[in-house]
Amino acid sequence: MPILNFDVKTNRHLIMATLAEIKARVYKFGNKTADGNSKMKNLLGGKGANLAEMSSIGIPVPPGFTITTEVCTEYNELGKEIVINAITEEVESSMETIENTMGAKFGDKENPLLISVRSGARVSMPGMMDTVLNLGLNDKVVLGLAKKTKNERFAWDSYRRFIQMYGGVVLGMKPKTKEDIDPFEEIMEHLKDKRNIQLDTDFTVQDLKDLVYDFKDAVKKQTGHDFPTNPWDQLWGAVMAVFDSWNGNRAIYYRKMHGYPADWGTAVNVQAMVYGNMGENSGTGVCFTRDAGTGENVFNGEYLINAQGEDVVAGVRTPQQITKLGSQRWAELAKVEEADRAENYPSLEELMPSIYKELDEYQKKLEKHYSDMQDMEFTMQNGKLWILQTRNGKRTGAAMVKIAIDLLKEGAIDEKEALLRIEPNKLEELLHPVFDTNALKRAHVIAQGLPASPGAATGKLVFFADEADKYKYTILTRIETSPEDLEGMNIAKGILTARGGMTSHAAVVARGMGKCCVSGAGALKIDYKNRILRVDGKVYHEGDWISLNGSTGNIIEGKVATMEPELSGEFGEIMELTNKYATMQVRTNADTPKDAKIARNFGAQGIGLTRTEHMFFQVDRIRAMREMILADTIKGRKHALEDLLPMQRSDFEGIFEAMQGLPVTVRLLDPPLHEFVPHQLATQRELADDMHISLSAVKNKVAELEEFNPMLGHRGCRLGNTYPEITEMQTRAIIEAALNLKEKGIEAKPEIMVPLIGTVNEFIEQEKIIRSTANQVFKERNDTIEYLVGTMIEIPRAALMADKIAEHADFFSFGTNDLTQMAFGYSRDDAGKFLQVYLEKGILTVDPFEVLDQEGVGQLVIMGTERGRSTKPDLKVGICGEHGGEPSSVEFCYKTGMNYVSCSPFRVPIARLASAQAAIKDMA
Ligand code: ADP
Ligand code: MG
Ligand code: MG
Repeated sequence: MPILNFDVKTNRHLIMATLAEIKARVYKFGNKTADGNSKMKNLLGGKGANLAEMSSIGIPVPPGFTITTEVCTEYNELGKEIVINAITEEVESSMETIENTMGAKFGDKENPLLISVRSGARVSMPGMMDTVLNLGLNDKVVLGLAKKTKNERFAWDSYRRFIQMYGGVVLGMKPKTKEDIDPFEEIMEHLKDKRNIQLDTDFTVQDLKDLVYDFKDAVKKQTGHDFPTNPWDQLWGAVMAVFDSWNGNRAIYYRKMHGYPADWGTAVNVQAMVYGNMGENSGTGVCFTRDAGTGENVFNGEYLINAQGEDVVAGVRTPQQITKLGSQRWAELAKVEEADRAENYPSLEELMPSIYKELDEYQKKLEKHYSDMQDMEFTMQNGKLWILQTRNGKRTGAAMVKIAIDLLKEGAIDEKEALLRIEPNKLEELLHPVFDTNALKRAHVIAQGLPASPGAATGKLVFFADEADKYKYTILTRIETSPEDLEGMNIAKGILTARGGMTSHAAVVARGMGKCCVSGAGALKIDYKNRILRVDGKVYHEGDWISLNGSTGNIIEGKVATMEPELSGEFGEIMELTNKYATMQVRTNADTPKDAKIARNFGAQGIGLTRTEHMFFQVDRIRAMREMILADTIKGRKHALEDLLPMQRSDFEGIFEAMQGLPVTVRLLDPPLHEFVPHQLATQRELADDMHISLSAVKNKVAELEEFNPMLGHRGCRLGNTYPEITEMQTRAIIEAALNLKEKGIEAKPEIMVPLIGTVNEFIEQEKIIRSTANQVFKERNDTIEYLVGTMIEIPRAALMADKIAEHADFFSFGTNDLTQMAFGYSRDDAGKFLQVYLEKGILTVDPFEVLDQEGVGQLVIMGTERGRSTKPDLKVGICGEHGGEPSSVEFCYKTGMNYVSCSPFRVPIARLASAQAAIKDMA
């Protein structure tokens, strides 16, 4: 959205004049006051808003000011000159305020004030954007700084750091190629070698002076310009560089990954420097109010003496622990004796007890103030403590759950807030086995695919589904998978494909199974014939160990140790809480009693989708199924169906029994028949022999079943309407199964679902067959059960005709996979070819097969629900697409007024949480 809708060039002066008037663009903080506060993250960025908040509640933060995110957007639209002009006055007067507070002057040669220029977007994007420290130094100012502080070493150390950071961030002094090292690091390494020293802290004053000289020389050589000496030029350069970093590759990539829009922009924080590099009584550190890995309520962190800014994270020197407890825990792991520890690696608590006490007070105060775990940065200058940043700390899924429950028990937050604190998707970490973090550090990643289904898998390479049991642990590696591979996929520990996206067959099925899967790893060259995998010129053979990280998409050479996930008590407590607030139910998509049981343990309140065809792929059934398909006559088909009936019946009995009286939606046969017939010569021959027909007859039939566009072909209710005997058999199996359980005293509530309805007559025809078959069975058995007959809404026309369909159907279930496919006109099986490009180019912001397109496809869902309920007000409505387990889509379903969402077993806890959160947000 343009800020001003007239031409920038011709109206330049007018714009400049008006811009300066309209609004505040600079917000001051420091000296226990602030113009902003923590609620203003959108305008001031997270860092700026929290600096303001800390200042107001009396935490010592160095004074400074924040240039708003809006200015970043203005900069991108109107350019540098207009923006500098619009904010100069505010910036200059804010700088004066800093000068007065600090009793020093920016650019002054006797009593200089140095500043930092820090980026800070709405959300923290660690390491994605840039910061410059010690700004305001030049050859003259450095002398003043040395004299004022009586610390020549410190002054020159700051200067060399400044040139280094400014050179990298503002002047583009980056390594030339990815193999090169940083040009400044190179100079420092060179000097260290020459002087035979190891650490930055070993440099003498003369060394530092030499470095400054060499750095400036390198800048001149590489950029063709002298290093800027005027502090104000330096400042504007840095501010613009921070704005530019918002559109740097790293930041763009990070935004894409998290779906943050480009127009948020970043704020710029300009702040008086405090110095951790002033000597042995100074230092810098980071700390957390609780353990970000486990959630344990222990204050922890690391610090370095005589260091500045990033030194702690940069790993140049090994930082020490802040608390004594942490230090002792560290020593135990590092096998350091207590005496050695206390002497050489003391904690801050031991080394500087009074500073520690103050820090401990602030961390308690800040956690209480924000009622959440805080991640803080601090610096000590000559025995005085300054806090430079606080934010809600990033944490693992396990820590997230524990901290929320602990804060609830401590009375810091209430139940609703505790539930809102849980990021639904992060729960996934708690549901699958994970790699041992230590083992992962040593891992050699050979390629990267899509993180299609989270978890960790280690096994031996196999290339064929029917060989998935060849070794005890296998990774099924395919160019792509097909329904025929199902059993093998189930047996393998993990699934790896070279082709296909997040909704490819492999990905969808793996997620359903809760099985680790990496899909679409284009760098893999799979040679089925020789049973080898080539990556980057390296060859891996069948039987070689390989590991997959389904959460990152990493493919790792060899065997990586895994650990079982711990479903700790707090996780159960959170799930218990969801029941109290959720109004929309959560069902599961489950095709087997095993899946049904898993889902019930996760709290599923029914089955929203049982895909009957999956049962047909098992070895003993596929033969009967193929016979049915290949039969040329009704009689032949009926004969094969008779073989299938008892198998289906016992499948349903198993599922009904597992669900113990909860409703079970069974979908009638859906996929194109072509998926069931054999495509390999050997299996075709086997079938021909079995059926006493010729091989060519089998081949002809297979060819005959081939369709140009199977997704729009002979499938769904079109099968049941052309072969009514299939519907009859399936209905009979369902009803008989329910009656059998009734005899055993177990209740069953089948809901029979007709797929792929486009016209009301398609449904009416199927309903007739279902009801008459059910009545027939009731008569035979002289008993009845209650059941429903409903339909999927997955063809756009069905959503349009929903009022008519609802006159007949007992329930609707939105099949949003097909609905998305048909509304967009994207074939699910082929979308991989262009979706990736669309996402990269920003033509699409998210994959609509993953996140329900609420704007477009969502209209069909809303319309279908409203129209359906216009003729049948109490119509039961649910969703059974992949979207049923995706949090933002779950919230949408809640708003649409659905009775339930249904998702794969391993996503049930996530959907339950999302459902509770939607209800809580609605209460507010
Ligand atoms: P990031 O967002 O990458 O953490 P920061 O803006 O927080 O970047 O700054 C990087 C480092 O510099 C941090 O360690 C921070 O504490 C330190 N730093 C920033 N501003 C100052 C300052 N005014 N005085 C001392 N250290 C600072
Ligand atoms: Mg920081
Ligand atoms: Mg469908």
